[in-house]
Amino acid sequence: MSDVPQEEKAARDFDAVIVGAGFAGLYMLHRLRGLGLSARVYEAGRGIGGTWFWNRYPGARCDVESMDYSYSFSDDLQQEWKWTERYASQPEILSYINHVADRFDLRHDIQLETRVTAALFNEATNRWAIQTDRGDRVSAQFCVMATGCLSDAQVPKIKGLETFEGTWYHTGHWPHEGVDFTGQRVGVIGTGSSAIQSIPIMARQAAQLFVFQRTPNFSIPARNAPLDSEYERRVKSNYLEFRRQARESRVGFVVEGTDQSALEVSPEERQREYESRWSRGGLGFNATFADLLTDKAANDTAAEFFRAKIQAIVRDAAVAELLSPRDYPVGTKRLCVDTNYYDTFNRDNVTLVDLRRAPIEAITPHGLRTPEAEYELDSIVFATGFDAMTGALLSIDIRGRTGKTLREKWAAGPRTYLGVATAGFPNLFTITGPGSPSVLSNMIVSIEQHVDWIADCLVYLREHDLGGIEANAEAEDGWVAHVNEVGHATLYPLASSWYMGANVPGKPRIFMPYVGGVGVYRQKCDDVAAKGYEGFALIA
Ligand SMILES: Cc1cc2nc3c(=O)[nH]c(=O)nc-3n(C[C@H](O)[C@H](O)[C@H](O)COP(=O)(O)OP(=O)(O)OC[C@H]3O[C@@H](n4cnc5c(N)ncnc54)[C@H](O)[C@@H]3O)c2cc1C
Repeated sequence: MSDVPQEEKAARDFDAVIVGAGFAGLYMLHRLRGLGLSARVYEAGRGIGGTWFWNRYPGARCDVESMDYSYSFSDDLQQEWKWTERYASQPEILSYINHVADRFDLRHDIQLETRVTAALFNEATNRWAIQTDRGDRVSAQFCVMATGCLSDAQVPKIKGLETFEGTWYHTGHWPHEGVDFTGQRVGVIGTGSSAIQSIPIMARQAAQLFVFQRTPNFSIPARNAPLDSEYERRVKSNYLEFRRQARESRVGFVVEGTDQSALEVSPEERQREYESRWSRGGLGFNATFADLLTDKAANDTAAEFFRAKIQAIVRDAAVAELLSPRDYPVGTKRLCVDTNYYDTFNRDNVTLVDLRRAPIEAITPHGLRTPEAEYELDSIVFATGFDAMTGALLSIDIRGRTGKTLREKWAAGPRTYLGVATAGFPNLFTITGPGSPSVLSNMIVSIEQHVDWIADCLVYLREHDLGGIEANAEAEDGWVAHVNEVGHATLYPLASSWYMGANVPGKPRIFMPYVGGVGVYRQKCDDVAAKGYEGFALIA
């Protein structure tokens, strides 16, 4: 699109470089191709698929329903693809993504097993210089970070890990050939979503399973089942409208909601409503009443409902109590969705270990030690999550105007305009970046929205013969303040969650996603575009 100096042409130059080949990177590539732009995707993994390529732990599964968690950009695609279950499993989502790559002929612009290590903005040429760990040196007018919100797996620094004589795994880097724990003594560290999905399956294999828990999580049954063909037929016969409603919704899929407060109905009615959501299963629970995420007293009624359920399922009262969250509101850490999680603690071969009472002191050659006991283990599974939202971005050496690094700029926490751009870094876009709804939503809806917005922006630049776009610092300040304001009007900041960066030692505590809702957010982004990219500087 822009005039490329001769010496840069000699290197390899593209209109755009895209980092990451998950749902975001693939759709971005498809859109750029459609605009006639040249693009190269770099992906660190040996295959495409992002989250669904890496997270192959037993029980890995989507907790947004299949008919929602899929691309909407092609009606032919959404009509022809058949999901088999209410919630798709990791292998099924991975084969879907591979199908999409083949169907839209995306592979030849994707370079696998290549990690982008640096992206440097050249103010003289208005281009990005991209470097990879394979020695690639290319330039691009635009750089799109599709690096994922949950792609930088965190293994906690525990003394002695290198001395462990067994095998250890992270759920986010699971071996492709799978792991058979039959007959083994296995320790799982962490009790977030990945642990909650995998523990019931590992417990059926292992001789002995030790679950090392610091913070218990609220989890609701998935009620997974083969996809109801009548439901599928109904959605497919009206898919365009179904998608429209999802885009305008709060979380990127439609849940039956209400305007009622949990406190304005009788205790019996409240119980009935909670029971009905519990039996339906899944993330819709958060919408049982309008004020569950904004009013602590309302939320307490839901938290109490969960604790009563846990106590009814888990036979050992002390274990049930340990599994019952008491120090943060329900829904303010991502609600987990499970199949037989709590019931697994009724098995004789499963032991829950309370790390709050006795933290891990060290990993030893034969297991793990707390001040209270030594646990002999053959395998350790780290289900310890990710450096969410900023980890993958900040592990790249990104330098904008005047050579300032993104790490410097975000030292006190991420600052973006709309979650898609950051001042001082022209022509750099972050798909589902901090400050956008991202992890609080059905992420495919948020990904498609960002990709379409970026693609439309590039068309605008082309049509107006412009070389670039850059967020203004004042617009960014205003957006950061707005994200904070709406975040702090909810109960979310009351939890020490990965939304707040609390799972990574030393990470600034900032509520990173935009909680205002997917539909509202889309409207704000569209308004910015309609006003000629208000809040951005357009570069000649
Ligand atoms: C276990 C798990 C379950 C989830 N379940 C749900 C769910 O139920 N519903 C939902 O909406 N979302 C869910 N998510 C979130 C999920 O990440 C998104 O839905 C979606 O897959 C994100 O796609 P993406 O393309 O943005 O990022 P990713 O899928 O994370 O892809 C990013 C890719 O970028 C690559 N990359 C990163 N840095 C570099 C670099 N420097 N160089 C080259 N390549 C790089 C990574 O290797 C990765 O493949 C889940 C996430 C996890 C981890």
